[in-house]
Parts: sequence; C-alpha cells; structure tokens
Amino acid sequence: MGESLSKTPNEAIILPFKPVASSRIIETLSSNLSPLAERLTMPQDLTDTITKFINGHTTLTDVSGFTSDERSRVLTAINPQTNKLAERATQNFLSVIACKNISGDLGSWNFLADASKIVERNQEAAWAVEFNKLFQLNDHPGVERLCNILRQHNDNRKQEIATFVLTYLAVNRENRIIIGRFLAGRSVMLEKLHRDLYGVALNKAKLEATKAMIRLAEQTGLHRTHLDRSLAQIQQTDHAALDHLIYGETEYDNQCDGMYHPGSLRIRIHYGGSSKDRSIKQPDHVIKTARHELFHAASAQSIQQHSWRMGLTGDNNQGTEVNEAMAEFQAQYAGEFPDMVQLQNGKPAFICNYKTEVSTLYELQQKDPESFNTLFRANYGQVDNDSISQALSAYYDNLAEAYNWRTNS
Ligand SMILES: [Zn+2]
Repeated sequence: MGESLSKTPNEAIILPFKPVASSRIIETLSSNLSPLAERLTMPQDLTDTITKFINGHTTLTDVSGFTSDERSRVLTAINPQTNKLAERATQNFLSVIACKNISGDLGSWNFLADASKIVERNQEAAWAVEFNKLFQLNDHPGVERLCNILRQHNDNRKQEIATFVLTYLAVNRENRIIIGRFLAGRSVMLEKLHRDLYGVALNKAKLEATKAMIRLAEQTGLHRTHLDRSLAQIQQTDHAALDHLIYGETEYDNQCDGMYHPGSLRIRIHYGGSSKDRSIKQPDHVIKTARHELFHAASAQSIQQHSWRMGLTGDNNQGTEVNEAMAEFQAQYAGEFPDMVQLQNGKPAFICNYKTEVSTLYELQQKDPESFNTLFRANYGQVDNDSISQALSAYYDNLAEAYNWRTNS
C-alpha cells in the first residue's frame, strides 16, 4: 500500500501498491537503505494512534472525509459548525466525482443507484428525506425516479447525467449542506454493511492475530510495552466503509484483497469480481485477508503527531516490500502457514500475495533469526539503532537474490 494520489482536507488518499517484480529496483533499494533505517529510528508516539481513534479523531476512510466524531456531530445537530463540516464533505465528494477514473467511470451513477437504496431503507431519517427531496421531477420527488430514467441510457450517458445533476445541485449552499448530511448518513450505512458482511470474520481473525502476536513477541524479545500496544490496536481495529468512490470495493478495482488505512485503525475487505459483477468471498478467504490487514493496524504508529508510520515503511514507500512481507508472514503464522508449499529444490515458498517477499522473510527467520527478530521488533517501534541497518540489508540482499533467481530461472 502507499502511493499518494490526491488529498482531502484531512488525509492523503492512499492507493494500494504492490511491489514491482524487478530485480533492478530491489537492488537499487538495497544499495541505499539508510533513509529507511533513519526513519525507523525516529521517535514514535506509541499512544497517539489509538488515543485519536478512541476519541473519534481518525478518518472513516469514505468519500466524505469525516472523522467519526465529525460524522456523529453532523448527524445529531444542525448549527454553523456542522453545516461547515457537511459542506466540506460535499466538496470532497465533488472533487472525487469530477475525476474520470473512478470505478470504471461509473462513480456518480453507482452513487445515485446506491443512494436510492439508502433512502429506501432510511425513510424515517431527516438526512435521507431531505436528500431525496432534492430530486424533485414533475412533482414526483425521489432519487429512485431519476435512477429509473437514467437506466434507459447507456453507461457513459448515465454517468454523464448523474455527474451533471449532482454537480448542478451542489451549486446551491443549502443543497451542499443537505448532500453533506446525506454523506454522513451514507457513511454509517456503508460501515454497517461492512460489519454485517465481515464482522464475524474480523472477530475470528482478531483472536488468531492476538494469539500469534503473543507467541511471536516472546520468540523475538518484543518489549511488553510494544506488545500491549499492538494487542490493543488489534482489538480496537474496526471496519472501514466500503465506498467505491474512494478506493474501489472489489479486487478488480484495486488489485487487492483488502486494505488498511494508515492512521485510521480501520480495515476493508474487498468483494470479489468487479464493480459490475461483485461477489462475496468465502469466510476462510475473508479471515486470511483480515489477518494481514490487522497486522498492519497492529504496527501503526505516529511520528510527531502528524505523520503516520505503518510498520517498516519509510518515506516514499521505501520499505514496502519488507513491511508487506512482515504483515503477511504474521498472517501466515497466525493461520499456521496455510499457503506454504515445498518447491522441487526442497525450499519452502508461499503461494500468496507478496510471495517472493514473504518467502524471503521466512528464509531469513530460519537462517538468520537475529536479523528477523530485529525486523520484527522494529516493526512495532522497538528499534535498536545499531542493528536495524544490518537487518534491513540482510533482508534486501536476500530479496534481490530471490528476484534474480526468479528472473533467471
Ligand atoms: Zn498489506
């Protein structure tokens, strides 16, 4: 994960990122690991992430850009402050729908189609009623009626008209406030949908991740402070809103099974298929994805109150390979290595996301446990200045070799 695309007023929007399978890139990286080592030795604020989360000051990760505290305020009170927040959410929304490459170019249309279902299910809620009234056509109010008209058109036209109507409505300030309040209600509904679909799987994954974390901490000499904090973060981690407008909601949209949002303690698990033909994944697959994302959340720290660090990542995504390897290694460990296979040459390997990166880390644990243990402790913020550079070099040298081996075999 990690490429910064654009910004809402609150948060950088992070797109999923997979390491490029290029031995040259890895070799270049491994030749200059000092910025990463430096970043990993910067003082961390180990309580900031969880405190902000508990106080409702972290992002909900959907298009509204609200924190959970802001969302509650917008839904429970109408005053100049909450109106301002609602307007800001609408601005975020407008800037996203103005961007052409959203969910196969159907962002606005999908938004309206989903909105008609949300309105239908929340007929008692003022935020839904007010929003529905915006779509007044020949005395027949309702977003559903507009959707029915749009369904007669092809995809491009549907999208074009949907974007036009939403942008046109938002010219008026009162309407922007109404749309913003709807975005707050929608955000609650999206989060609930995620919880209904994957709540049981997330709880099971939390249990497995907790047990694994305790065992690995013991093996690697992780200090009690870091263990307790990571366990608390696993427990607190919650569902994000499955919002197609921001990160996509299927693995086709973003090539990822799931995502952790830096600084948020919120994870998402994606649908299978594409946004036009989504499928709900099998529970085992969901639990596996949740384990990986939970270990990202466990390793979240903040630097100087405003910069988020996730595990072993540094600036400009440096360290993504070792960070993803560590998250997946722990996820595999928690599930008793379900994706480990034996190659013909007798070497163990993994058939999962980041397979080369994880296989390399697994080998490091077997052959050079001290380097592995250092990386593990560094992942949670317990960094030994002298040994982190050496451990990173050990990992990246092996990774470069593994990529070479794969390229040349
Ligand atoms: Zn990951």
